[in-house]
Amino acid sequence: MSLVLRVDGPRWRAHLHGVAERFPGLVPVAKGNGYGFGLARLARRAQWLGVDTVAVGLYEELPHVHQRFDGDLLVLSPWRPHAAAPADLGVDEGRVVHSVGRLTDLAALAEHGRAHGHRPRVVLERITSMLRHGMTDDELAEAAATVRQGGVRLEGVALHLPLPPPRAGHATPSHVREVEQLLAGPGLAAVLATTDRPRVWVSHLDDTELETLALRHPGVGWRPRVGTSLWLGERAALRVTATVLDAHAVQRGDAYGYRQRTAPRRGTVLVVSGGTSHGVGLEAPTGQGTLKARAATLARGSLDAAGFVRSPYVVGGKHRLFAEPPHMQVSMLFLPHGAPVPEVGEEIEVRLRYTTTAFDRVEVT
Ligand SMILES: *Cc1c(COP(=O)(O)O)cnc(C)c1O
Repeated sequence: MSLVLRVDGPRWRAHLHGVAERFPGLVPVAKGNGYGFGLARLARRAQWLGVDTVAVGLYEELPHVHQRFDGDLLVLSPWRPHAAAPADLGVDEGRVVHSVGRLTDLAALAEHGRAHGHRPRVVLERITSMLRHGMTDDELAEAAATVRQGGVRLEGVALHLPLPPPRAGHATPSHVREVEQLLAGPGLAAVLATTDRPRVWVSHLDDTELETLALRHPGVGWRPRVGTSLWLGERAALRVTATVLDAHAVQRGDAYGYRQRTAPRRGTVLVVSGGTSHGVGLEAPTGQGTLKARAATLARGSLDAAGFVRSPYVVGGKHRLFAEPPHMQVSMLFLPHGAPVPEVGEEIEVRLRYTTTAFDRVEVT
């Protein structure tokens, strides 16, 4: 009995098409757990969308994608000398675009290519306010010199920006401002000048920001790398269900579970599918964190005062409490007397983070 991600296919596909239309040059990102869908499914979807490039997070993810999508494969995590080589992973090096965030790595990658008889394709990462990876403008100026020596093939510059800032009225959004400040750097300009097809790969710009940039910088090919708002942008098309596996009526004081805890009052122990192996149980406990709030809760004799933690399972329209910490593949919930008790075999809704959940099955209608 399983934890299932159910997808309203027509609605999801219409959304994917809509995003592809609003984001010309779209590069779908397929990484991690494939945003809940799995990498293989996202690779096939990208093929169906007709894009020319898919981005993966890690080199190790390339083998999951390369036979299901036939375009270019951008690796988002920056190349390092110890990175797995695409050829060793069974992936055609010619399709792979490496991200490079340090000058020393650029030289090392060019050297690696020379040693193996190819010219690696590279996107040079410019450091942004994210402060994750990338080179300063001065370093990009040096990188431009390395690129001109011909050891690598330049595919553009990458800017990984923070999540969208709040927008005030019609003021110029600050993503645009930051991008333009970075673009104005002589080092970045020198890098783009090495190619007759200057491209800038960006993350976390919205469609209006990209439209603004495209109008103001028509010479640049903008390549938005989008994951969450593409795959998970239409929440109404997605639903997660677990199955009720068992239900046991308990009286106050009855023991249950691995820890032989006792029921704080009369109710039902509900056994449902989904456990730690699916990522269930990484949720935060109930919001009432302050001592005062906890004292008030205790006074009311409520269940979380007994150490019960809010679960992502919804029964009768309410998040229910874990009766004890989730097991590997099932969880035990406590339903107080009076709450509706679903039938064994019934499906119940679960509200989980898609990017941290391993579903047993994805069903697309
Ligand atoms: C993961 C990632 C993305 C996609 O992020 P979402 O928030 O899922 O759209 C884009 N760029 C980089 C560099 C990333 O690592």
